[in-house]
Amino acid sequence: MGRKKIFIVLLVILLEAVQVKAQIPAVKPKEATLILRHQSYPTYTRIVLEGDEEILRESKVLRGGIESQFSIEFKKKGFFIKPPTLSIKDGLVKSIEFIDKGEKNVLNIILEMEPHNYKSFFLKDPSRRVLDIFRGTVISTALKAVVVIDPGHGGSDIGARGLSGLQEKVLTLDIAVRIKKILQKNPDIKVILTRSSDMAIPLRERAFIGNNNKADLFISIHGNNSFGKSKKDFVIYLLPTTESKEEKDKISYLWDIQYKSSIKESSRLAESIMESLKKAGGEDIIIKEAPLIGLMGVEASSVFVEIPMGPEDEKSLQKESIKNKIASNLVDGIINFIKKKPETSRPEERTHDGAYKGF
Ligand SMILES: [Zn+2]
Repeated sequence: MGRKKIFIVLLVILLEAVQVKAQIPAVKPKEATLILRHQSYPTYTRIVLEGDEEILRESKVLRGGIESQFSIEFKKKGFFIKPPTLSIKDGLVKSIEFIDKGEKNVLNIILEMEPHNYKSFFLKDPSRRVLDIFRGTVISTALKAVVVIDPGHGGSDIGARGLSGLQEKVLTLDIAVRIKKILQKNPDIKVILTRSSDMAIPLRERAFIGNNNKADLFISIHGNNSFGKSKKDFVIYLLPTTESKEEKDKISYLWDIQYKSSIKESSRLAESIMESLKKAGGEDIIIKEAPLIGLMGVEASSVFVEIPMGPEDEKSLQKESIKNKIASNLVDGIINFIKKKPETSRPEERTHDGAYKGF
């Protein structure tokens, strides 16, 4: 190939390249978009901006202002926020509005009530600026709950009988009344007993009392008088958490979404009660899953608690102090459960690198 030929070929390639370039309309430098989202929890509202690391890192949260109670100011310009406005109206945050005018480049957060506190932080992978605004009434609403205590057996249904004559129906009512007395000290907790005297109540009716009162917790008290050791265990029963075909058949129609969501909380309730019994020095506490008829149809988080009533336990159960201790330990487990309820109101667990799971 001669020099001239090479020159012509190069010229053609160059001209074509110029032509191709000319066909593409002039593109502005790529503008970043930040994604705005929120989540309302009973105790706080979380606002998240996700996107360009530099823009988010150099942003800062300001408290106060004429137009809004909170604002996020950005150093950088030339980006979008999607959506630019957000109507929340969850009783705490009214709306969020992005202002992009001249020198002003802020995200205004307009509140519906004076907040208790707030917290802002930056998270990586993906980059996020998080603002948590806490409600002013966190403490007073935290313990609100309806607790139904169900003393097992009653009337002609004695339940188990201890070696020295202790009847299960007497023990269950005794402990239930003590639990009620202690729990009632919290003005926001409503306590209902399914029976407050020695009478027989069908299981269905007990569940109905719970559902009708919109119970958050349903705790059925029983006695453990199984064969074997003279000193029995505390046993906490809950409905099966597994979804095996076998269990499904046993529980039949009750296996609906409502049931599945309450079972998740039931196992948390069982663990909470186990923890408080353990802390109080109880050695043998067992959690078991069983398709108990007494818990079926109960919409609340529910467990059966069996109090040890072996021969040795019967002796100690004659002491008021022991019975009070059992009742107050069970109350601790109930209170701890309520404090952490509902699960969705708690911030996501932090992973070891400090990032939030899922948000
Ligand atoms: Zn029983």
